[in-house]
Amino acid sequence: MKKIFTFLLLGGLSISTKAQTIVNRNTDIDKMVKSVNPDSLKSYITKMVAFGTRSTISDTKSKTKGIGAARNWVVSKFGQFAKQGDGRLTTFLDTVTIKADGKRVDQPINLGNAVAILKGTDVNDKRVFVVSGHLDSRVTDVMNRVSDAPGANDDGSGVAGVIEAARIMSQYKFPATIIFVAVSGEEQSLLGSGFMAAKAKKEGWNIEAMLNNDMIGSNNASETQIIDNTKLRVFSEGLPSFDLDKNAKNIRQFGLENDGKSRQLARYVKETGERYVDQLEIKLIYRNDRFLRGGDHTPFVENGFAAVRLTEMNENFEHQHQDLRIEKGIKYGDLIEFMDFEYLRKNTAVNIAVLANLAKAPSMPTEVKVDVKNLSNSTFLFWKAPVNGTVKGYYVLMRETSSAVWQKKFFTTATELRLPYSKDNYLFAVQSTGNDENESLPVVPAIGR
Ligand SMILES: [Zn+2]
Repeated sequence: MKKIFTFLLLGGLSISTKAQTIVNRNTDIDKMVKSVNPDSLKSYITKMVAFGTRSTISDTKSKTKGIGAARNWVVSKFGQFAKQGDGRLTTFLDTVTIKADGKRVDQPINLGNAVAILKGTDVNDKRVFVVSGHLDSRVTDVMNRVSDAPGANDDGSGVAGVIEAARIMSQYKFPATIIFVAVSGEEQSLLGSGFMAAKAKKEGWNIEAMLNNDMIGSNNASETQIIDNTKLRVFSEGLPSFDLDKNAKNIRQFGLENDGKSRQLARYVKETGERYVDQLEIKLIYRNDRFLRGGDHTPFVENGFAAVRLTEMNENFEHQHQDLRIEKGIKYGDLIEFMDFEYLRKNTAVNIAVLANLAKAPSMPTEVKVDVKNLSNSTFLFWKAPVNGTVKGYYVLMRETSSAVWQKKFFTTATELRLPYSKDNYLFAVQSTGNDENESLPVVPAIGR
């Protein structure tokens, strides 16, 4: 009896020493998040599976089978939402001819990304936020263009999330622009996202964040037999692949290995996702992607944009990239029966919460600097107001150099702040916040004098 009492007391103490988290949800975003419907998600995936294969090198002419029919269906789905809206949502198929490459493309193909653009309401706001999934699917042999490749989870789940986000978000107004895209050619080596990222770079799109959703609807692991629908992984690069040589000295000198813009976006996904979605923990994975596999965020980070990969916590390799078959009593294949639509609902909601919070927020503060004129035991930060949006104030974010997430947020309405914490011992960033508590992405201060 005495032992039990001590245990409980210690348990109580350990909870009370942990700082509380204040959950403050914006009404509109909360409504959007609650509108995500598992039945809608299931209906989209059922439809996608019915195209037989969605291999990028499959038939593009048939009305009922293959990638051509599938991508036209996604465009028509976006078109339905456009009709219900006030004209701000537009949709089209963005096509390109890809030459045979002697690797995963054996003859020239017509590749198409199904795109929907929700134009921002502020004409001066050039910010763009992108959410993607890949429509193409595959079986064991990536060059197999005919066998049924249901791709219910890989990546019917990501595309369903994108479609559901477009359905819900097109009913709301945001100052910034949101692009919903179901790319093709992922399995053929990221061809569709590569095409889009190169175009964005060339045309100077102001993409501030890109969320790649690839496998977000299966809750279990082969081999370890774990079943868990309460965790989602966010992969983000550490050292930036873009312009690393130019910035390496700075990164090394100031210890900014974990403060690149994709990593900042990953933290933002964790904080915002967990704020709006209950029973979900978002795990920051400190690498760009998994071993031996790639993803559609990679062409974006390579072109200098902040981009991350959202993926289920556990992967089942019996259901991934497999010919449909039963072998030694095991059913192989990426089938709808293996999916968890409650898990997919939560992961879709994370995307919506993040995109809505970003697109509602004022843009990032500019010219954020940390004063290094003198040796001191405090930190003085100063910055300029953002270009777009109404600013209520700013959060100065602070964390220990060894902490993965921000630990303190100081609010100020001024454009400078002095804190009695040594800049030598902490990492800082500044974000703008609007009247509805929507925060911009954080900006890491440059050296100022
Ligand atoms: Zn995939």
